[in-house]
Amino acid sequence: MSGQVVLEVRDLQRDFSISAGAFKKAKLRAVTQVSLDVREGETLAIVGESGSGKSTVARMILGLLEPTAGEITLGGKPLSAYGRLERGALLQPIFQDPYASLNPRKSVGSIITLPLVINGDPEPRTRKARVLEMMQRVGLPERLYHSYPSQLSGGQRQRVAIARALINRPKIVICDEPTSALDVSVQAQILNLLQDLQEQLGLTYVFISHNLAVVQHIATRVAIMYLGQVVEEAPTQALFDDPRHPYTQALLEAVLTPDPRLGVPDPSIRGDFPNPIDPPSGCPFHPRCPHSMAICEDVDPAETRDGERRARCHLLTA
Ligand code: SF4
Repeated sequence: MSGQVVLEVRDLQRDFSISAGAFKKAKLRAVTQVSLDVREGETLAIVGESGSGKSTVARMILGLLEPTAGEITLGGKPLSAYGRLERGALLQPIFQDPYASLNPRKSVGSIITLPLVINGDPEPRTRKARVLEMMQRVGLPERLYHSYPSQLSGGQRQRVAIARALINRPKIVICDEPTSALDVSVQAQILNLLQDLQEQLGLTYVFISHNLAVVQHIATRVAIMYLGQVVEEAPTQALFDDPRHPYTQALLEAVLTPDPRLGVPDPSIRGDFPNPIDPPSGCPFHPRCPHSMAICEDVDPAETRDGERRARCHLLTA
């Protein structure tokens, strides 16, 4: 593995207290024991079904949610030690729904300019030139400078969101399902754009997705999440060539089906996604796992490591 670790996540946990009927509260453990290293210039993909905890991890990395336990360090310093502006200069998000994340009353130019203003742009006179240069980089024609989000296509809106995220040249970008609200043809364009920008600007990405197929060409490494845990992590090619966790194997079978819309959830996995308020005993995947053994019902498997790979499954410890 090359590149310095720029973002470190250690034993992250996040609990939510949710209503469970009249006057009753229940604890939902959305994320548990999650550790990740993100290296400079790479793309770490975090993949899982809805309810797997991947977006909760992203929100904690962005400082939008406090962890219940565990630590996140950015450039060797705890995330909590950064002020909002300082953190924003290093770390920026791109969210799924560009329409919801863009102010409909602001023009494209002012949306992309705002982070420069907030961060006290040292060269206000060249602001417009910087915005136009960034618009060009993300493939937005100059004539859209005075347009409003409602006048743009979905792909153009996501390009505005990308330009806004990158205008202050952050080091790390958290891409939370950045293409899943877009048409299939536009998805590929945005993925290609993100790859080009990574090369040009030396960016590091954490890429959240529910679909393994989407991350295959963009990710350096993939972490698979299931019910709040990372169940397998490996370099992308190794994961696709030799998936070791039964859940990863099932996800890959879904990707290889002729219907490209299938990524997750996967019809080949038996049963439904479990209720996170009442998670299964032992291995959280055991009610759906085709290889489940007696031990799986009682004992949550420990993580095993093999070079750059790790996984949690009793089959790998036997
Ligand atoms: Fe399946 Fe058991 Fe491995 Fe869990 S620990 S994934 S139930 S074989």
